[in-house]
Amino acid sequence: MNYIAETLHTPVTDECEVLVAGGGVAGIAAALAAARQGKTVILLEKQFMLGGLATAGLVTIYLPLCDGMGTQVSFGIAEELLRLSIKYGYEAKYPAAWLEGGSKEEKTKRRYEVRYNAQLFAIAAEQLLRKEGVKILYGTSACSVAMEDKKISAVMIENKSGRSAIKGKSVVDATGDADICVMAGDETALFGPGNILAAWHYFAEGKGYDLSMLGVSEIPEEDRTEETAPLIARRFQGIDGKELSEMVQCSHDQILADVMKKQQKNPNYMPVTIATIPQIRMTRRIVGKYTMDTADDRKEFADSIGMIGNWKKRGPVYEIPFRALYGGAVKNLITAGRNISAGDAMWDVTRVIPACAVTGEAAGVAASMTDDFAALDVALLQKKLVEQGVRLFYRDL
Ligand SMILES: Cc1cc2nc3c(=O)[nH]c(=O)nc-3n(C[C@H](O)[C@H](O)[C@H](O)COP(=O)(O)OP(=O)(O)OC[C@H]3O[C@@H](n4cnc5c(N)ncnc54)[C@H](O)[C@@H]3O)c2cc1C
Repeated sequence: MNYIAETLHTPVTDECEVLVAGGGVAGIAAALAAARQGKTVILLEKQFMLGGLATAGLVTIYLPLCDGMGTQVSFGIAEELLRLSIKYGYEAKYPAAWLEGGSKEEKTKRRYEVRYNAQLFAIAAEQLLRKEGVKILYGTSACSVAMEDKKISAVMIENKSGRSAIKGKSVVDATGDADICVMAGDETALFGPGNILAAWHYFAEGKGYDLSMLGVSEIPEEDRTEETAPLIARRFQGIDGKELSEMVQCSHDQILADVMKKQQKNPNYMPVTIATIPQIRMTRRIVGKYTMDTADDRKEFADSIGMIGNWKKRGPVYEIPFRALYGGAVKNLITAGRNISAGDAMWDVTRVIPACAVTGEAAGVAASMTDDFAALDVALLQKKLVEQGVRLFYRDL
């Protein structure tokens, strides 16, 4: 490979106590939590809207905060953001028993999940963060880090103004892909099986609009051709720029083919929105001090920072140990969201919106307390989380 050597003199344009990279649900929760601890917070987001996959990615189903047996398991900012997502109206899945009060029997029948409008959720989240004093930098990519004594001393950013540096005392990696971990030298792992192609989009059929959860596995037998067969078999890793661009183009092809087919039956069938970020589920994660596993169902962790249910089946409840959020090689770096430490099977549980909010809140509070996560007084972190309404242990439900 050819290389070009660059000499860079990067101006330091900002300083803060907590620097959050990535403004998806995890980054929103982390920034909010840190700001509420009275810290100066800067949130970097390379898109021009908040929410990541949950908004720009058109994944508009806030999966359950409950265990499927009528008991709520995720609290704090995870619940606050669920309610915020439908503050200005919901699209579907309104769980009245949970939101307005209902019996355990009703709560067992219908899980605590909602479908929201992506645009309204993104704007509502932005307004909330602004109100709490978070400085949001849109159109801004974190592109490298400067290190000092095993700590990130500055994060290099690029945006319309060019390249500059931001100094942050502690850093939350909420990029979804553990990008900052790689830049700083923390150990990471890839999702072994890779990802199937997704092509979720919104459509209208004359009046009203709806979400199409199109994926290649949804292509009916009769429509499978020589062209679609390799796509159905194909898996995407999601950490290579060219591969991601190709994946997005394949997804657009699927949407167009689907729309053309539906227009034959109904000429008014139209796509109304397509995702503006790649719809990829599991890519790269930190290798934390602890790696979560599906066998951790109802296991008690002394360092639990909150709980999640399992969106795929009723019953399981997982406490999330603080150790799943950091690796330790980089002292002042913590992760939140779909890049925390979980094995391949468990990753499918920890990647979803409620889990991203739970881990985001814990990462944000922790980042407000220390620039050395391995040395943090976890009991004090837990006390602060409980003060914010988080419940930590299954035994306390
Ligand atoms: C097809 C599909 C369907 C899904 N269905 C559901 C569902 O029904 N319900 C559910 O709860 N979950 C679902 N999920 C999972 C869920 O949406 C995501 O895993 C979750 O929203 C991830 O949140 P996050 O904040 O961790 O990451 P992301 O949403 O990926 O956010 C990361 C953010 O960081 C930004 N970013 C990345 N790198 C940088 C950088 N270097 N500098 C600055 N900014 C950066 C990105 O632009 C993005 O906004 C689905 C996912 C997919 C792909």
